[in-house]
This record gives sequence, structure tokens and C-alpha cells, in this order.
Amino acid sequence: MADCIFCKIAKKEIPAETLFESDNIIAFKDANPIAPVHVLVIPKKHIKSVAELHEEDAGLMGEIILSAKKIAEDLEISQNGYKLLIRVGKYGGQEVDHLHLHLIGGAPLSEEIQPIS
Ligand code: AMP
Ligand code: ZN
Repeated sequence: MADCIFCKIAKKEIPAETLFESDNIIAFKDANPIAPVHVLVIPKKHIKSVAELHEEDAGLMGEIILSAKKIAEDLEISQNGYKLLIRVGKYGGQEVDHLHLHLIGGAPLSEEIQPIS
């Protein structure tokens, strides 16, 4: 995707503070962090959202979650806990249309979703 900002980060066409990289994924600091630790983990290949995943992407998604776990350990936020978040589409609040997992932690986190009644 020529105009996708996360594809450009994956291809090093625009800078990001990269924490981890493999053949398939890259993890970098969120530009507008909402907590002391706020990292995005993305597949290098363009997948628009979870809604566009296929069976063959199961291993890739496993790698994304396990890399978030490893980064949380490396940054020493694992013991106190953290949040993993994937927004999907319009109602999910997804703003960048390239699948990404948020790793958020380093402080107590408030819930952003309230009960409906
Ligand atoms: P979402 O609302 O789940 O789509 O989250 C998109 C996230 O991408 C937001 O937290 C933004 O702060 C972050 N973001 C957007 N552009 C960049 C960028 N160039 N580098 C790092 N993070 C970015
Ligand atoms: Zn992309």
C-alpha cells in the first residue's frame, strides 16, 4: 500500500523508534503515547485489520502477541501487568488502516469502555 504510514515504517521510509524486528513483524514506539510504555506491533505485510485476516495468518498473529509479551518482559512491565489492544474498523476506533497491536503499560490503566446500562 503506497500511502500507508505503517507500511512506510516497515520499509524504513519514515522513521520510528524500533524496539524489535523480525522478517515478518516490527515493533515501535507509539508517536502519541497514552502510558509510560506504548508500543505498536505490526505485521510488515499490509493487512488492513483483524477483519481481513485469513487462516494462514494465524502464525503471524501468534508472533505479534508473543513479541508483545517479550517486549513487556524486556521493559520490565510484565510483573505488574499491561494491556494489549487491537481496534477493528470504524466502531472499534481504528484510525490507521494497517493492523496493529497496542502494548500499553507501565502504570495503572483506566478502562475506556463503560457498561451500556
Ligand atoms: P488506532 O487508533 O488503534 O488505529 O491507533 C493508531 C495509533 O498509531 C495511534 O496511537 C497513533 O498515535 C499511532 N501513530 C500514528 N502515526 C504514527 C507514527 N508515524 N509513528 C508511531 N505511531 C503512530
Ligand atoms: Zn500498510
